[in-house]
Amino acid sequence: MRRFLNALSQELSSAGLRGYGADGFAGQLPQAQVPQATEPCPRQQPQAGHQDWIGLNDARFAAFNVCPTCYHSLVRPTPYAGAFITKGGAIAPPPNVPVRCDMSRFWVRIAGTVLLTMNQGGRHDITLLARVAGIRAQDGECPNAQLTSARQPLATSQRTWYTIQDPQIGAQPLQGWTVCAACLISIQTCCPAIATSFAPLHPPGPRDSTCAFVPSDAYDDMRSGEMLQQVGGCAVTSGLLGRPDVSQLVSWLRENPPRPRGGLSGSSPAPSGLCPRNSPSTTLRCHTMRRLFNFTVCEQCFADVIQPDLARGVELARKFDMAPNAMPSDFTCQLYSDRMRRVWSEAVSTGDFEHLRQKVGERRAKEREVQMTTARLEQQAAVLRIQARTQEHLAINAMSVEANQASNNILVSGIGGGRRVDAWHVEVPSGVPDFSQTTQLNNQAAMLKLQAAQAEGEARMAQEEWRQYWE
Ligand SMILES: [Zn+2]
Ligand SMILES: [Zn+2]
Ligand SMILES: [Zn+2]
Repeated sequence: MRRFLNALSQELSSAGLRGYGADGFAGQLPQAQVPQATEPCPRQQPQAGHQDWIGLNDARFAAFNVCPTCYHSLVRPTPYAGAFITKGGAIAPPPNVPVRCDMSRFWVRIAGTVLLTMNQGGRHDITLLARVAGIRAQDGECPNAQLTSARQPLATSQRTWYTIQDPQIGAQPLQGWTVCAACLISIQTCCPAIATSFAPLHPPGPRDSTCAFVPSDAYDDMRSGEMLQQVGGCAVTSGLLGRPDVSQLVSWLRENPPRPRGGLSGSSPAPSGLCPRNSPSTTLRCHTMRRLFNFTVCEQCFADVIQPDLARGVELARKFDMAPNAMPSDFTCQLYSDRMRRVWSEAVSTGDFEHLRQKVGERRAKEREVQMTTARLEQQAAVLRIQARTQEHLAINAMSVEANQASNNILVSGIGGGRRVDAWHVEVPSGVPDFSQTTQLNNQAAMLKLQAAQAEGEARMAQEEWRQYWE
């Protein structure tokens, strides 16, 4: 855990410093002050009979318990040490109840790193640790929580899964990247700025999948650490933008497909990456079909759909190149949606290759059109929002200039006319603040925002039409 937290805190501190300037909270808490465990927690397994548990002096968090070892190495050197007390009375665990040290939990340690490196806005306080420790998802713990080495395959489980979803247009850009409820709630609690960027996987309902994170207390999962660095970066960016933005995580995941885990062989090789769906990928490989080159199928969907057909001896499936290829230009997957999987299975049962060709061709043309329309509208909306913000800033400046002007006028007329200036009865007309420029600029900003919202609305409609009739 040490190397992992070190790398993470380094990344988060530098993201914080970049974002907030050296005078921010991160400046006072350089990376060296993120303490590392000097010895492993002796109470990772629940133990009864200890009277020396340490916790917060707050009855709401009576269930939060830290062992003295973890307290001395991880909490005492930080500015938060004063919030902890040795527990007694009502907040102490009963001596016969086995209790586990909460600082030995993966997400609690991550919460500690968040508190020390990314709390520039002062949004979190020490209760973050106790709140994260108290997270219990209805579906139970993460299926990967019990993994003890990087050689073990990720554990699958049937439940509701969550993925990244654009809060504006509702699109889910990463087929196959799923997170369990327990990990998701932990991420949302630690990084509220991006909490709304996740949603249950479409279509709704429980299904078999696995969690992208390995919140193991037994070993450092490096990929989880890398993903959390991206998550932290997104949280900082979103804080600065004032709206959730996880594009950094999405691009990173597209460019860094999961490495194969473990030495377990025998099954077919794992796909090199997630399905890109309708987001063009330049890094993944795909399978193409002879005489139908624009029917590009990612490795994931090939494994899900085409492999089983090959195993059944389906003639049409043999037209695919068995080896995935890097494409000369970016590609989108044509076989991730329920609609296209239906088209494929119809073609398989009728053997009607021409029908398949026609459907793929129509869909590709529409896909291109929707991509271009959406990109244009989103660009337009982004420009309009920047213009609106500029007008708002100008309005703030204009207001102070106009207010100043007004008070100068009062002063000048007071001196020049030799009259007493009565602040309540200003007779000089030019002493009345004239905020017409401010008003005009504010009106312009409001208009630009309205136009941006319209462009975003049109982009949403294009996406909606795509999902309903074409995807
Ligand atoms: Zn401990
Ligand atoms: Zn999980
Ligand atoms: Zn695919």
